Amino acid sequence: MDVSTHIEAVLAEVRRRNPGEAEFHQAVTEVLDSLGPALARHPEYVRGAIVDRICEPERQVMFRVPWVDDEGAVRVNRGFRVEFNSALGPYKGGLRFHPSVNLGIVKFLGFEQIFKNALTGMGIGGGKGGSDFDPRGRSDGEVMRFCQSFMTELYRHIGENTDVPAGDIGVGGREIGYLFGQYKRLTNRFDAGVLTGKPVAWGGSHARTEATGYGTVFFAEEMLATRGKSFDGRRVVVSGSGNVALYAIEKVHALGGTVVACSDSSGYVVDEGGVDLELLKELKEIRRERLSVYAEVKQSARFSDRGTLYDVPCDVALPCATQNEIGREEALSLTKNGVLAVVEGANMPSTPEAVEVFGEAGVLFGPGKAANAGGVATSALEMQQNASRDRWTFEQTETRLAAVMRDVHAECRRTAEEYGGSADDYVLGANIAGFLRVADAMQAQG
Ligand code: GLU
Repeated sequence: MDVSTHIEAVLAEVRRRNPGEAEFHQAVTEVLDSLGPALARHPEYVRGAIVDRICEPERQVMFRVPWVDDEGAVRVNRGFRVEFNSALGPYKGGLRFHPSVNLGIVKFLGFEQIFKNALTGMGIGGGKGGSDFDPRGRSDGEVMRFCQSFMTELYRHIGENTDVPAGDIGVGGREIGYLFGQYKRLTNRFDAGVLTGKPVAWGGSHARTEATGYGTVFFAEEMLATRGKSFDGRRVVVSGSGNVALYAIEKVHALGGTVVACSDSSGYVVDEGGVDLELLKELKEIRRERLSVYAEVKQSARFSDRGTLYDVPCDVALPCATQNEIGREEALSLTKNGVLAVVEGANMPSTPEAVEVFGEAGVLFGPGKAANAGGVATSALEMQQNASRDRWTFEQTETRLAAVMRDVHAECRRTAEEYGGSADDYVLGANIAGFLRVADAMQAQG
């Protein structure tokens, strides 16, 4: 069977076997569309059904999460953990708590994680989990009881050599703390390496909180450098105002760029003088306010709940909110205003139509599985510190993170060229480089 027929057959089987999981289909199609040149050179992967196997999770767990709210009423949510691929190491990937979470979303994220984690070169497999629990407006006690109930089922599936969850949307240091406490209570073991993203005081790594945002900016910096450019003096828009966005903004400012707009699910803020990071952190992390409050506090800023922040002219766009936030319209608006580079801090924020628009316009495009790999890479550094009962300084950890991002960037460009594309085709490079590492290990392991 020729390679493209093989790929079409696998895609048809994925659609048949996973009905209604649009985001999962999208993520699989994006990767498989790149694999032709790799399979043509490695017919043994076709014979070994490596692509068919990669698209089927090794294990999927779905479970009931009952918890008691502050009024004493029992609530029920659904929990997920998809253990997708362990060829390169223990399953590794975050937990997302958001009302949009369903099996298809967790599978798309887990699938992306396989290739992202492989790209880091750090010996971690791919997995993802979460729940349709909505943390918004929930008290600290409610979040704690939810996390305890979630872990009461999850603990039997994870372990520092088996599966190591971390945070994602809706799961930060507070949630990891409650999850870890319940794991310890149930097992009577202080297995620090069973979760990453822990507070630094008891087993967390310096720079883990900052890592995804910083790493995305390091990756973007490498991309700009291929054009002899840098962040210095550039206008940047960053979507989102969660953990990834906050630290992307911080690093852009440190490198001399100006973030002129950021957003949340209610709208966006334009602050021509540069987003005030301290104010944003206080509003989003401490007061858990909506973004409109930013413009109430800072009179020079403007809040809008119409259109999108991608209408704001910029040199670089860093989508750091969520999947499919940039469609064709947003991409056209960015290119019309002369954007140089779009670099993804979130997972799959650009639709296939948007990526096509960027390609046609010659915009540099950094896909999330390469550009946001700094978060999970620093999780792997946290696992290393836990295994050796060591703690590195912030500077040591950030230096390692920057080196990983440089390596991932170089590997994407090198692989894209080796497999017949332009070095600027980061999608081709990331997908093939990640795939080859996983495929090679799967083949060797039988
Ligand atoms: N949720 C993050 C990601 O999308 C980090 C996962 C981790 O640290 O395990 O890569």
